[in-house]
Amino acid sequence: MKRMLSGIKPTGRVTLGNYIGAIKPFVSYQDEYEMIVFVANLHSMTIYQEPKDLRKNTKDLISLYLAAGLDPKKVTLFLQSDVLEHAQLGWYLGCMVSMGELSRMTQYKDKASKLKKDESIGAGIFNYPSLMNADILLYDPDYVPVGEDQKQHCELARDIAERFNNRYSETFKLPEPLVPKVGGRIMDLQNPTKKMSKSDETGKGCIYILDDINVSKKKIMSAVTDSDNRIYYDVKNKPGISNLLTIYSILSGESIDSLVDRYQGKGYGEFKKDLAEVVGQELQKIHDKYNEINQGNYIDEILTEGANKARYMARKKLAKVERKIGITIKK
Ligand code: ATP
Ligand code: MG
Repeated sequence: MKRMLSGIKPTGRVTLGNYIGAIKPFVSYQDEYEMIVFVANLHSMTIYQEPKDLRKNTKDLISLYLAAGLDPKKVTLFLQSDVLEHAQLGWYLGCMVSMGELSRMTQYKDKASKLKKDESIGAGIFNYPSLMNADILLYDPDYVPVGEDQKQHCELARDIAERFNNRYSETFKLPEPLVPKVGGRIMDLQNPTKKMSKSDETGKGCIYILDDINVSKKKIMSAVTDSDNRIYYDVKNKPGISNLLTIYSILSGESIDSLVDRYQGKGYGEFKKDLAEVVGQELQKIHDKYNEINQGNYIDEILTEGANKARYMARKKLAKVERKIGITIKK
């Protein structure tokens, strides 16, 4: 069975973008692949997190994975901070990457370019990709399903794996990023040229999975579109409608072409109203399961078991790395 790995940061409330780009695909892969899924809480520290929010977001994220249908019997689900090998390998790999390579990462460049006057950028954001390289390479995954924004980091992991293998000897499998053909980049509903992000400051254009369903429906109804009033897919000229078509298609399972046919001659109002229903139904299903999960007390058990399984794999790989690089002196 091929192996897949992915993680999400507990940096805020999970958005429809995270759900469509990352969580929903995981669920569909779990019967076909061996899945390793973690909450990337070490990564969340690159930006200050209010401790009580971090605890809540972490717990919510685990519950959401489960509510979305991840089966902990099939999937290894754990907290990144519970497996110390991530940070340890992150250090070794951080010593193999250049400042130039890290400065070319668009996520870092973006954050650096948006700095306000007198604001400084944390070194964690700059170093982030090394830790992510470790997250990936510890487990030898064949594929890393990510949204488009993380593709560049996965490619760096591949480069560093190759560098390590060449310098020492074959150690890491080269991972491949897997970006969904549709839904890899869900856009902000108020500014459809910008990615929907859970750390967005206003949150006006974000649908949060656990928000009140009526609030989410209203956000769909007030999504920014254009004045053309014709429904077809054209990301460049109609980013708002194209984004809504993408969301509609993924949540309903109906192709974009078929939706375009069906809504020919119909206005944006009707289209948005139907989409709001589709979104509402999907969220309702998740909310029901989420409430069920939160009544039980088995998240701790799932995380302990998940961390044990992950640690077993991670330790083996780290021991191999430490032998090869000469850190280990014991036979
Ligand atoms: P932050 O703003 O804190 O970076 P985020 O919303 O970008 O939060 P991440 O934790 O960085 O979320 O990413 C989690 C996963 O969700 C990754 O696989 C990422 O590619 C995917 N993802 C994030 N935003 C979107 C989006 N708008 N559309 C599709 N996938 C997304
Ligand atoms: Mg992100």
